[in-house]
Amino acid sequence: MDFALFCTRVNILFLLIALCSPCKFIQSPMDFGPLNFHQTTDTSSLDFGRIVFDSPSAVLRPQSPKEISLLLSFLSASSFSKVTVAARGAGHSIDGQAQALDGIVIEMDSLPSAISIHRGRESGSSYADVSGGALWIELLRESLRFGLAPRSWTDYLYLSVGGTLSNGGISGQTFKHGPQISNVLQLDVVTGKGEQVTCSPTESSELFFAALGGLGQFGIITRARILLQDAPPKVKWVRAFYDDFETFTEDQELLVAMPDAVDYVEGFILLNEQSLHSSSVAFPSHLEFTPEFDSNGNYRVYHCIEFAIHDYQVESTDVEQVVTEISRKMSHIPSHFYSVEVSYFDFLNRVRMEEISLRSRGLWEVAHPWLNMFVPKSGIREFKDLLLDNISPTDFEGLVLIYPLLRDKWDANNSAVLPDGGGREEEQVMYIVGVLRSANPATCAAQCLQDLLRRRRRVAKVATDPRIGAKQYLARHPSQGQWQDHFGRHWDRFVARKAQFDPLSILAPGQGIFPRTY
Ligand code: FAD
Repeated sequence: MDFALFCTRVNILFLLIALCSPCKFIQSPMDFGPLNFHQTTDTSSLDFGRIVFDSPSAVLRPQSPKEISLLLSFLSASSFSKVTVAARGAGHSIDGQAQALDGIVIEMDSLPSAISIHRGRESGSSYADVSGGALWIELLRESLRFGLAPRSWTDYLYLSVGGTLSNGGISGQTFKHGPQISNVLQLDVVTGKGEQVTCSPTESSELFFAALGGLGQFGIITRARILLQDAPPKVKWVRAFYDDFETFTEDQELLVAMPDAVDYVEGFILLNEQSLHSSSVAFPSHLEFTPEFDSNGNYRVYHCIEFAIHDYQVESTDVEQVVTEISRKMSHIPSHFYSVEVSYFDFLNRVRMEEISLRSRGLWEVAHPWLNMFVPKSGIREFKDLLLDNISPTDFEGLVLIYPLLRDKWDANNSAVLPDGGGREEEQVMYIVGVLRSANPATCAAQCLQDLLRRRRRVAKVATDPRIGAKQYLARHPSQGQWQDHFGRHWDRFVARKAQFDPLSILAPGQGIFPRTY
C-alpha cells in the first residue's frame, strides 16, 4: 500500500472515530451526530456494467440529508484529507461512475423514501416530492394512486431519481416532454461544501441548472419536485417493421412531428433472431414477422418502430381510429404493423419483463459494454454504417436502440451535453443510439470483453469526430482532456460550477473528471 493510500485510509479511520466516538474530546466542534457508517457492502464496488470494481473504504447509509451535509462539511473543512465521496443510487452505471476508490460511497436508498403527491387545480400544476434515492418505479406506483404520473421516463424504472437526474433521463416521451431533467420544478441539494440548498429555476438557479445533468459533480440531490400529469388508464402500443433504414428514420421523424397525437416514439435495429426475440418479450402480441437475416451468407438487418398513444377514454377520441390514420401515413413493410392495448403501468414497466427473462437465463448479471450516443440527424446514416461495420451480427447479444429527440425540449442551462447543432435548422432533430450489448461469459470471456471495449472506444472516437459530430451519453472518459472535448464550448461553465459548488472536488470521483484537491 503506498503512503498516500495509507494516509487516506488513516484519515477515514480518523473521520469514523471522530464522527462515531461518544468521547467529547474526540468529537470536533461541529455537532456530527451519529453517522451510520459501514465497511463495504456487497454493492458498493459493483454496478450494472460489471467492468469497473473500485472499492471504497467506507459506506454511509444516511437516514437524513443532514447526515450527508455533516459528512461533506467535515471533509471540505479538513485540509489534510483526500477522501472522495460518491452518491450511489441504484448503481446502474456502466463504467464505475457511482464508485469511489478508497473513498466513501453514500448509498442513497437508505434515505426515507416518503413520496408526497400534490394535485394542482390547473393542468400542469401537479407534482411529486420524492427522495433522491427513491426509484422511479416507486414514484410511478405512488402517483398512480392519485391518477397522476410523471411525464418523462426512462425505459427501465428501477433507477434512482437522483441517478437519472444527474444524467438526463430519456425515453420515448422525450421528443414530446423533454428529458426528465426538463421536468423538474425544484431540488434539495447538498453541495460539495456541505451546504443544504433548496433550488429551482428562480431560487439558487445556478445550482439547480448545474445539478441537472451534472453527473453528480456539484452536489447530492436529496429531494426532487417532479412535474406530474394525468395518467392514462391504457396505452395503445404499436410496432411496425422496416427493411430499409431511410424509410425507418423518415417514419420516426414523421411521428415525432405529431406530438398532439403521439405520446411515445422509439425504435431499434434488429441484427439477428436473438434481438428480435429479446425485444419482443414484453410485447403481448404474436408477431408474424419472420425476417431472413442470413441469406446464403449475406447478412441483412431490419428495423422496428415502436410508438404509443395514451388512451384517455375520452369519447371524442377514438384511439383505434387515430392509430389507423397514423399507420396510413407510414411506409412500413405492408402487413407488419401490430398494435395492442395494455395498462399504462405495464407499458412503462415493460423492461422489467425483459429483466426477468434475462435473469432466468443468467444473462442479467453479466458485463455490459454499453455505448450511448447522441447523434445529429446529419450524421445518423454514417453513424449507423460505422456501427454495423464494428458489430458482428452473428454474435451480437443485446439490443440497438435508435430514436429521434428534439433539441428545443432540452434546457441549455442544464449541464447535460448535446451535439452542437451547427446552426442548421435540420439539426433540431438528433438521435439517441444505445448499443445495449451483453457479454455472456459463456461465449465472451475476459479477452473477448476487452475486444468489445476496444471496439466501443473506436466507434465512440470516430463518431465524436466533427464529421459525425456525436456526443456520448452516460460516458466515462479516461482523461480530463477528453472530458474537455466532450463538454466543448460548455467546459468553462462546467469548471466554474465545480469551483463554486465543490471546490475541493470531493464529489463523484467515479466520473474521472476532476482530481481531488486539498
Ligand atoms: P448510479 O449508477 O447509482 O449513479 C450514476 C451517477 O449519478 C454517479 O455519478 C452517481 O454518483 C450520481 N448520483 C447518483 N445518485 C445521485 C444523487 N442523488 N445526487 C447526485 N448524484 C447522484 N438512461 C436513460 O436515460 N434512459 C433509459 O431508458 C435508460 N435505461 C436503462 C436501462 C438499464 C437496464 C440500465 C442499467 C440503465 C439505463 N439507463 C437509462 C441509464 C441510467 O439512467 C443511468 O445509468 C443512471 O445513472 C442510473 O441511475 P442510478 O440510480 O442507477 O445511478
